[in-house]
Amino acid sequence: MQTEDMIRAVQRKLGVLVDGRAGPQTWGAIHRYVVRPDSPPRVAFSAPGDRVSARSERAIATLLPEVRPYARALYAKARGLGIVLDIISGTRSYEEQDRLYAQGRSAAGSRITNARGGYSTHNFGIAFDVGMFSGNRYLPESPSYKAVGALGLELGLEWGGNWKTIVDQSHFQLRPEWALDLTERQMLSELRGRTLAGEPIF
Ligand SMILES: [Zn+2]
Repeated sequence: MQTEDMIRAVQRKLGVLVDGRAGPQTWGAIHRYVVRPDSPPRVAFSAPGDRVSARSERAIATLLPEVRPYARALYAKARGLGIVLDIISGTRSYEEQDRLYAQGRSAAGSRITNARGGYSTHNFGIAFDVGMFSGNRYLPESPSYKAVGALGLELGLEWGGNWKTIVDQSHFQLRPEWALDLTERQMLSELRGRTLAGEPIF
């Protein structure tokens, strides 16, 4: 078997894009699969004195406890490199998601999401968005989003910047282990089922 075929087989197994090239997304998935999220992290997840801003703290508090250390670590790593970012959103209810979905459709404004309630990973406590800032000014675009994307992948997070359909460089999510072989759509279906049944996500 050629190396490229092996990479393709691994990618198929991991449920990532099958292109025969082991890029950041593939390595992120391999890292999650081999190293496991519950093994001791390679970064200090909550070093003493590692405080996040009040705004980030509010967003992080909405995430599942399993996901919070990842958001904190990403914040700390980025700030450690001099990148000024905040975690600007975390979990939203199905109702809040439906309101966002209506924007640019049945309600005024421009479309900001293609996901209705229950169809965004933000509805399940496993996803958060970051924003870059110059002082207090929010930067919708900045090269730092890519840099922070790489940091997130290093931590074992999935990064929206790698998505093929709607690229979202501000978006990060922690895929549960049971979802490693699933497509995004399959994972969301399982997330809705677990939530309905009151079963744990992790
Ligand atoms: Zn997002």
